Amino acid sequence: MSVYGGIETGGTKWACAIGTGPDSLSAAEKIPTTTPKETIDKTVEFFQREGPVAAIGIGSFGPIDPKITSETWGHITSTPKPGWAHTDVGQEIRRRLAVPVAFDTDVSAAALGENRWGAAQGLETFCYITVGTGIGGGVMAHGMLLHGLVHPEFGHLRVPHDQERDPFPGVCPYHGDCWEGLASGVAIEARWGRPPDELAQEEAVWTLEAHYLALGLMSVICVLSPERIIIGGGVMRHPEVLPLVRRELSELLNGYLESAAVGEEIDSYVTLPGLGAKSGVLGAIALAQMATSP
Ligand code: ZN
Repeated sequence: MSVYGGIETGGTKWACAIGTGPDSLSAAEKIPTTTPKETIDKTVEFFQREGPVAAIGIGSFGPIDPKITSETWGHITSTPKPGWAHTDVGQEIRRRLAVPVAFDTDVSAAALGENRWGAAQGLETFCYITVGTGIGGGVMAHGMLLHGLVHPEFGHLRVPHDQERDPFPGVCPYHGDCWEGLASGVAIEARWGRPPDELAQEEAVWTLEAHYLALGLMSVICVLSPERIIIGGGVMRHPEVLPLVRRELSELLNGYLESAAVGEEIDSYVTLPGLGAKSGVLGAIALAQMATSP
């Protein structure tokens, strides 16, 4: 039976794995994200050492070019991450390992992984959102990953910003106080002067965080009408956040949507990933399988 390679490229590390699903990972490694050359070299060495694989799927931090007909398909494009803007990842790995490569955003990959093996099994239209260093979202609509013009950019939607309650200007280099600018892990650290892990006991931190997350989710629900929202990432590992988000989201929706999903069933409607922190790398393996299936 063929095995597949999955790569989740993150801002601090690249998670690489080989297998066919959650119960069959034969090799896994985390490679620190340094320079593009060094990181890609180590990734290629991992697959040369642990392979062969039938295909590789890559779920990448973005923005990226996922358009298969584009000359810059497989590239990370306008990322503010130093040294990584306009980096060819997908074509380079395809050339050096000589296997089919599927390339999408980390959050699209995670959505696919959750659909295949996690909390979105059996659903056709749902979102996977990550709230970590940044905020990103992937959408599956009618069973297909949604791309469109480029790909969804949940992190940069606008949320109401009450300057009196929260005078913090936001951290997005493009928009200041967009959703990611106000509510990412980087924003939390910049606003409160300490990283989220050191703020676990600070109620005001999580009340404000839940407020912004609920505002963003309200927009996501009204635009996409997802059947479920899976929300992962480092910030969501703080257990105080999610119950606050659900409660405030219910209040914001104010009974308008006549669905039990956003009423008494909201605990399963806005939910953590079924695959934990592995949604992305497993989803990348699922992308690789799709790349070679007819
Ligand atoms: Zn922004």
